[in-house]
Parts: sequence; structure tokens; C-alpha cells
Amino acid sequence: MGNRSCWTSQVLMSEQPPINLVKVTLVYSNLGPLSDAWNSSVTSRVQYTNTRSIEGTPSLGKRHNKSHTLCNRCGRRSFHVQKKTCSSCGYPAAKLRSHNWALKAKRRRTTGTGRMAYLKHVSRRFKNGFQTGVAKPQTAEN
Ligand SMILES: [Zn+2]
Repeated sequence: MGNRSCWTSQVLMSEQPPINLVKVTLVYSNLGPLSDAWNSSVTSRVQYTNTRSIEGTPSLGKRHNKSHTLCNRCGRRSFHVQKKTCSSCGYPAAKLRSHNWALKAKRRRTTGTGRMAYLKHVSRRFKNGFQTGVAKPQTAEN
């Protein structure tokens, strides 16, 4: 059993692990994963590791490089410095980045989220037939 190789591991959340520990099932096999006899050759071992506690405050303190900076178009801090594209609006692409799998993101920038400087007057102008020119002179009968 000396040349067993660990080729995969998975995190199981079904059982409640101890605080700050992750239950990891290590699957060992000396055969490749595409082999027919792989399932019968597998042995697994459960162990608990405290990787979750490492992902917190200590490692967050080491992050000091900015990958994104302010976007000229949308103003979010989503402009990737090396890729030179905005992950939020797609700048410098001519069209705004939009995806159907991101309904909330679309909802946040559709019609009605801004000043509606033109469109808010259109329904009233439509009701009156889009009049042009100057108003009729006022008479005594009115
Ligand atoms: Zn942008």
C-alpha cells in the first residue's frame, strides 16, 4: 500500500463537524479514475482539518494588491487593472454589459432607476396629442 496516491478529496457538510473544523473525506486509489475497477479499489479516510479558521482574519490581512479600480463609466470599483475591462458594465465595450442570468443587476440599471429626464414627461404630452407651438391666447370666455 506504499504507492497509494490521493487524487481527490471532498468536503462533506452532512454531519456537523466540530467548531472551526471541516470534515474532509480523502479518497485513495492506486488506479486511475477512469479505470473500470476504480470503485472497488477505493479506500477512503475521514479526517478533520481546521482550514476554515485559516480563511478568516489572518489571511484577509495579507491582501494588499488591488485587482480592480474605479471604472470611468459606471463608477464602481470593478475596472480590472490588468484586463482593462470593467466586470460590472463591460467598459470599454460600446454596449453595457448585461446578462439574463443576472436579473437583479439588470433591474438596478433599467429605465426608472435614474432621473427619467425625458421619459417622465412623455405620457402627459401623449395625453395632449404632442402639441407644438405656442399656447392659444386667453379670451374672456375662458
Ligand atoms: Zn464599469
